[in-house]
Amino acid sequence: MVDIMDARKVRLAYLKFFEDRGHKVIPRALLVPQNDPTTLFTGSGMQPLIPYLLGEEHPQGRRLTNSQTCLRSQDIDEIGDNRHTTFFEMLGNWSLGDYFKEEQIQWFFEFLTKEIKLDPSRIYVTCFIGDAKNKIPKDEISAKIWTNLFKEIGIDHASAEIGSEEDGYRLGTQGARILFYSDKNWWSRSGKPEDMPLNEPGGPDTEVFYLFPQVEHDPKYGKKCHFNCDCGRYIELGNSVFMEYLKTSDGFVKLPKRNVDYGGGLERIAAAAINSPDVFKISLLFPIIQKLESLSNKTYEVETNSMRIIADHLRGAVFLAVDGVVPSNKEQGYVMRRLIRRAIRFSFNLGIEDKFIAEISQLILSLYEPDFPEIKAVKQKVVETLNKEENIFSQTLRKGLRELSKLQDKGLSGADLFKLQDTFGFPYELSLEEAFSRNIKLKKDYKKEYLDLMEQQRKRSQTAAKGVFKGGLGGQTLIHKKYHTATHLMYQALREVLGDHVIQHGSNITEERLRFDFSHPDKMTPEQIAEVERIVNEQIDKDLIVTWEEHDTKEAMDKLHALGAFGDRYGKRVKVYRMQAKGESKPFSFEICGGPHVEHTAILKEQGKRFKILKEESSSSGIRRIKAALV
Ligand code: ATP
Ligand code: MG
Repeated sequence: MVDIMDARKVRLAYLKFFEDRGHKVIPRALLVPQNDPTTLFTGSGMQPLIPYLLGEEHPQGRRLTNSQTCLRSQDIDEIGDNRHTTFFEMLGNWSLGDYFKEEQIQWFFEFLTKEIKLDPSRIYVTCFIGDAKNKIPKDEISAKIWTNLFKEIGIDHASAEIGSEEDGYRLGTQGARILFYSDKNWWSRSGKPEDMPLNEPGGPDTEVFYLFPQVEHDPKYGKKCHFNCDCGRYIELGNSVFMEYLKTSDGFVKLPKRNVDYGGGLERIAAAAINSPDVFKISLLFPIIQKLESLSNKTYEVETNSMRIIADHLRGAVFLAVDGVVPSNKEQGYVMRRLIRRAIRFSFNLGIEDKFIAEISQLILSLYEPDFPEIKAVKQKVVETLNKEENIFSQTLRKGLRELSKLQDKGLSGADLFKLQDTFGFPYELSLEEAFSRNIKLKKDYKKEYLDLMEQQRKRSQTAAKGVFKGGLGGQTLIHKKYHTATHLMYQALREVLGDHVIQHGSNITEERLRFDFSHPDKMTPEQIAEVERIVNEQIDKDLIVTWEEHDTKEAMDKLHALGAFGDRYGKRVKVYRMQAKGESKPFSFEICGGPHVEHTAILKEQGKRFKILKEESSSSGIRRIKAALV
């Protein structure tokens, strides 16, 4: 075959096409939105541009374009179908008070048919049907532009009215090329016209679908197929929003400055370019699938679902790591952790026994490095980050699965869900998913019970430790201080590696070693021990500055989340030790304690010493004991 456009070429062609039409190519925003605490991830090209769409002037002008990396964790349950991925690139172009419907619709059609060479007779579109109640007219203008475009090349251009998606399943396409929908073709930040607050802009949109005749309509989605049907026969390639109205107390009025916001999935357009209804067949994803085939000795044809999930999740996790996210139990880190752990879970379905994540991550990075120069500097760290999560999780996961099997007949309670997370590293949602696929019943109020336990754990971990070292810290020689500081570093490292359930239950220091007791239900694996050692030594090398500050006790615990020890009581004010690297905005360790400590952590490596865990053993039920030294 000649001149098939791979995904990289599609991206380049798109940017060039709009550059040639007066657009400035702007850089992508990071996956973690900067200065926007309301949302975890960048989920569209428009999101970082909202201030400009609302009227602020953009330094690059009124015509912009880019390819925006997006992450939609809300789409995680769709992964496995032919067209959704959690991570994807959204090709975008914007007019900020410049061109409008005429140019936008024509250009996109031209791009698809002339540049990408899609078959125009397989292109189908939707427009806004109008809203009588709010006196918003039907978008005849967009429909007319489409009609003319199709007419010019001799393609039928019949239209029909649909309304809601539900109506779509009842009415079907009716042989039309242009279908009018209601809410599906209305855009505002808050949804339908009636849900919008006053002074909010909104407008109709027009969506472009590509027909894949090789996909048969599946009636499980609805009686009749229509463009917005979920069966995947018509795939939405892109969506042009025309921001032209403002909601006022007098109803919807035309905005003086109208904007265009276009967003289309690179993966989907690239799939259309190779005539594949399956986005996983494109050049940025299929190599991952092929690697999974060779690692598992299974075929994509048979293991479609698992392979799609693994490829998608690891690609998402890799990009999160590129953008600086690390797995954790909170926010973005939690989503990343969930993606990685879910990928590992599905690798079991493929019978992959060995560690595989480093290899796949390297492959993913190599696919993107040519177009994302920022990858070069971070790629090694990215692989390490994912690899580490695999080390921590894959061993306990198998145990957790066995644990779940034991609950097959009993059903799952909130306490079980808590334990699965706490002990076996199963994110809550993953346990629910397992329960669902194995038909394990969920007990009454499981969610409330689980949330209560989580809250109790949070409180426990903040129960602070005044005088923890009162008994423990026998003298105040330099070596004692060193071990005392090492204890703080190790406490934090244990929490990072094992989880937030790790709470200090006791500590004792001699000239030879530190001893530390903490809550954790399992024997630590050699990998976990090595990882804790690595983190502590890393922090020693970073030469954290050790300082202390005094805080109101309640504030230290509830607001500043200072770490403490189990069962200790203290007065109104406490001393909190901070161990923080120069130039970093957050401390590595922040712990209530009486001191004393060394002044900076590099002192711990004097005479070439390294931190080492000598022994890890059971102390009492649910409590582990570590002895460690600087050797
Ligand atoms: P869908 O209904 O198919 O989920 P959407 O309405 O959520 O799409 P938009 O929010 O309009 O999509 O996003 C614009 C474009 O981004 C879509 O037309 C599609 O090409 C692409 N897109 C959206 N979500 C995904 C996803 N999860 N994976 C890949 N591409 C996506
Ligand atoms: Mg969607």
